[in-house]
Amino acid sequence: MGDNDIRNIYCIGRNYRLHALELGNDVPTSPMVFTKPTHALAPMDGNVVELPGSVGEVHFELEIVLRIGRDYGPGMKADEIIGDMTLGLDLTLRDVQSKIKAKGEPWLPAKGFKGSAPLGAWFPYPGQAALEQRTFKLIRSGQEAQRGQASDMIFDVAALIEFVGANYGLGAGDIIYTGTPAGVAALVDGDTLEAYWGDRKVGSCVIKLA
Ligand code: ZN
Repeated sequence: MGDNDIRNIYCIGRNYRLHALELGNDVPTSPMVFTKPTHALAPMDGNVVELPGSVGEVHFELEIVLRIGRDYGPGMKADEIIGDMTLGLDLTLRDVQSKIKAKGEPWLPAKGFKGSAPLGAWFPYPGQAALEQRTFKLIRSGQEAQRGQASDMIFDVAALIEFVGANYGLGAGDIIYTGTPAGVAALVDGDTLEAYWGDRKVGSCVIKLA
């Protein structure tokens, strides 16, 4: 299954306490879900990702991304239906987001723009227990920018699968960005981003702000 076969792109907001707090948000009491168009997808294989450079800050958010391998049905366990995983970037136009949040408008302009969903290389999902033992990190132009661990999620993978599956539906080919740990910041033109699962590099890209 390639990236062309990806169907729905679900994203979870504020799923790590320290990230919710760093943006001045309340910690949610149920999963906060939004979506991106499939046109947001971009590779992370050393390529250049072109992003809007004239509408304020573009923030990186490194996240664990889950790919669903089987259609969800009531009572099915997360470990049964998740096929693969990778790390991805939920790129965000933060100044645009602040404006639309203040007005109560939908998040699409801030979260759904073209190139806003770069994805690393897929590998088999190891199950939630193994997932929660590994750290992941983002290296920005040679320096560690973010480090996270799934055990710090406010809503764990099992809870996310149940919530999204029951409320919106989950089928083979859907993916879920599971939220970002603390450390988000603005990209600058020419930044190199490298995503690591443990010691293993799963993706990289170069940012071009145009
Ligand atoms: Zn995010």
